Amino acid sequence: MLIERLTEALGADAVKTSPEDLACYSFDAYSQGVLPSAVVLPTSAAQVSAVVKIARELEEPLIARGSGTGLCGGATPIRAGIVLSFARMNQLLELDIENRRVRVAPGLVNLQLSERIASTGYFYAPDPASQRASTIGGNIGTNAGGPHCLAYGTTVNHVLALEIVDDRGECFTTGVEDLGYDLTALLVGSEGTLGIVTSAWVRLLRIPPATGVWLAAFPSIESASEAVSAIVGAGIVPTALEMMDATIVRAVESAYAAGYPEDAAAVLLVESSGEPEEVASADAAIARIARAHGATKWQAAKSAEQRDALWRGRKGAAGAVGRIAPNYYTQDVCVPRTRLPEMLAAVDEAARKHEIVVGNVFHAGDGNLHPLLLYDKRDARQVAAVIEIGNVVLARAVELGGTISGEHGVGIEKRGGMSMVYRTEDLAAMACVRDVFDPHALLNPEKIFPAGISCREMRT
Ligand SMILES: Cc1cc2nc3c(=O)[nH]c(=O)nc-3n(C[C@H](O)[C@H](O)[C@H](O)COP(=O)(O)OP(=O)(O)OC[C@H]3O[C@@H](n4cnc5c(N)ncnc54)[C@H](O)[C@@H]3O)c2cc1C
Repeated sequence: MLIERLTEALGADAVKTSPEDLACYSFDAYSQGVLPSAVVLPTSAAQVSAVVKIARELEEPLIARGSGTGLCGGATPIRAGIVLSFARMNQLLELDIENRRVRVAPGLVNLQLSERIASTGYFYAPDPASQRASTIGGNIGTNAGGPHCLAYGTTVNHVLALEIVDDRGECFTTGVEDLGYDLTALLVGSEGTLGIVTSAWVRLLRIPPATGVWLAAFPSIESASEAVSAIVGAGIVPTALEMMDATIVRAVESAYAAGYPEDAAAVLLVESSGEPEEVASADAAIARIARAHGATKWQAAKSAEQRDALWRGRKGAAGAVGRIAPNYYTQDVCVPRTRLPEMLAAVDEAARKHEIVVGNVFHAGDGNLHPLLLYDKRDARQVAAVIEIGNVVLARAVELGGTISGEHGVGIEKRGGMSMVYRTEDLAAMACVRDVFDPHALLNPEKIFPAGISCREMRT
């Protein structure tokens, strides 16, 4: 019945049901869930609306999916349902340079957006390290961050308006200029649980006239962390301030020969943009602070090629660790910048205790850590150890005044952990918001909230 109805609405070519196809959509970069009942590839908001109406009638869950690069199980079906893949809704729809904005379909890959508009002198700022693969719809779903979000803000700061299909299959639009509640901001980061994004107007920024990229080598991860606090504490906001430890630097160098010093215990990758004089003054000021905190090297990228190579190494770090272990598990926590040394020490201690190799590559300027726990999933001891270390990392981040996710979202992975940062009443209040948008829990059910949390607790 379901397959016939979907085929009737979208055409046979847009409905996938073979076991091989379903298997491809049963996981994301975090986990494997169950097989969906069907995968659909709509080409318009009207088709999305038709699918939602069928799902509602037949009580099938709906899971919106971009590229499946999510690291928390957000796009993974956990009780069958229909996966809505936006692979065919990937167009740049309208370019409005006068108003510095562009309208895109949700399946457009992040990097392709900036590449396609580069000749206009503008760019789209949020740049998750996954930007070669992840989509604008997925970035909106998770409120993605990225190295340059230190200066420019995360996805929510760049979404101007949304076209949404709601749980009844009705299409509506929101905009940041609307009076009353800011529904646009509410929908960004809602992980496909409040509505399905079918197009978005996003902000464009002018490509800065000058950009400098430097690397600083440090004798310890503590001295690099202290330099990060001192740079931001001095009122300097570089466009990016990223850290990699020795494990990551060696893996990156072996994979890409990007130009990082392999003898450093930690490396900062620093970028500053603006007028040439501003970049020159950032160079002098940041170099002074880095040296005062023990930097043994401060080196500028001398050409666009060198700059690109350093960034390619940083953004390819997760792939490079495949040279060390067959599997990795990325944690994502945030702490106040001044607590970075304590947080990194806790990661190191837990990893040593459980004999797991860890590599740290992260958005240091934002205090957003990503310990990559390197393991072999065929070894049950290592799997258990990685899960245990992940829990220790979450608990320590909360103790240090931080939180359990900086940018990857909650999905399935961290729904239990939400109780570490919110009281039951707070979670129930959020569940009430969800109920307003999706009272029948059709949209990406069983994500974000711990089991057993519902709006009813607010009403009693
Ligand atoms: C190597 C690597 C590096 C990464 N680096 C970063 C980083 O620097 N910063 C960062 O923030 N993340 C990073 N991530 C995580 C991931 O890439 C982001 O979460 C990204 O935003 C997911 O995009 P996607 O298109 O793959 O979405 P998916 O994984 O397919 O979906 C993500 C969520 O969005 C929802 N969704 C998708 N499309 C829609 C839609 N049209 N309407 C409503 N909801 C929708 C899904 O239901 C799901 O909940 C990284 C991942 C990897 C593997």
